Amino acid sequence: MDTKEIIEGLMPDDRHNVVPAAWAIIHSNDTQMLSAVSDALPVIATAVNHLPPNSEPAFRDYRFAPALAVPVLTCFKQADSCRCSLYPASNGLDPEKEQRLGFIKIIKEEDHLEEYRVEYTCICAHGETHFETILDESYPYPLWYWKRVDRPLSGS
Ligand SMILES: [Zn+2]
Repeated sequence: MDTKEIIEGLMPDDRHNVVPAAWAIIHSNDTQMLSAVSDALPVIATAVNHLPPNSEPAFRDYRFAPALAVPVLTCFKQADSCRCSLYPASNGLDPEKEQRLGFIKIIKEEDHLEEYRVEYTCICAHGETHFETILDESYPYPLWYWKRVDRPLSGS
């Protein structure tokens, strides 16, 4: 999706593209795109606030993704070098994607596949902040729980 499609995707008259547009923002470190999109942040935030609920029963409220895109844009607009402030507030950010985008480094990973759980120890790529992150795969969609820790609890 290009910048224009992303912005339009978050507008109320484009229901089909709202979720892909939100993920395009969440999973990007393209400063040019993020800068252009975040210029429209007030309009986007208002539009996202007024999105109607799912019209049919669904595993998950589709508004989850656009609701996460707004703080991601806010974080970018504040010129935060990292996204540490976002992690504990959300369960939609995948540490492996965050690592690919250069925001964090995964320093330890433990699979507990029989329990549908993966545990990560992460460190901010721009600072000393550590997180213990648990991926819970026992739902129809993945959930990541980020907990800030003073230092890794389980080695490094
Ligand atoms: Zn950080």
